[in-house]
Amino acid sequence: MRIILLGTPGGGKGTQAKLICEHFDIPHISTGDIFRGKIKEGTPEGKEISEYTGKGQLVPDRLTIALVEERLKKDDCKKGFLLDGFPRDEKQAQALDVIMNNKHEQINFVFLIDVPKEIIIDRILGRRVCPKCGESYHVKYNPPKESGSCDVCGTSLIHRADDQEDIILDRLAIYNRSTEPILKFYEEKGILHKIKGDGRIPEIFAQISGVLSKTQ
Ligand SMILES: [Zn+2]
Repeated sequence: MRIILLGTPGGGKGTQAKLICEHFDIPHISTGDIFRGKIKEGTPEGKEISEYTGKGQLVPDRLTIALVEERLKKDDCKKGFLLDGFPRDEKQAQALDVIMNNKHEQINFVFLIDVPKEIIIDRILGRRVCPKCGESYHVKYNPPKESGSCDVCGTSLIHRADDQEDIILDRLAIYNRSTEPILKFYEEKGILHKIKGDGRIPEIFAQISGVLSKTQ
């Protein structure tokens, strides 16, 4: 099964991505991970990526699309995959269509995890991340065992500077503007599934796996 997972930043998309990939044994392909991997390897692409991300800019489509295509060619994607963070807008969705057509494959499911704005703000304001290993926590919903330090590596957790209410609202508005055309694109193909994302983690996962299991 080939899946795209869409959802507002802070809406619990990452958690659901992990659950789906574990349960259905498919690779989790996130553009964030691909970028971090390239930066770590120190390749020319990695250097280019860090120039953009260092300035807080988006990595250009040309590069993003090429890297996603390269990743989807790997053997582990033969049984399916879950895309997270891609496509980001309509242009990328169309590019993905071309990639899939060239492979004689198609995307089977697109999930939108739909979460009310107030809940997203609450989740992001309480978010704490580990600057060393990237693990994330929430002061209320997913606190670390020892307050303020990472369960995995013990590093002191931080509250990211851009996790503030006005910045979150801006990010949401930008996200919605670029996502609307993608939703329409996949709705017309009949593969879009809207999932209510304001419940508990297992309930949200049950909605998604219900759709996936029915059609297997
Ligand atoms: Zn850590």
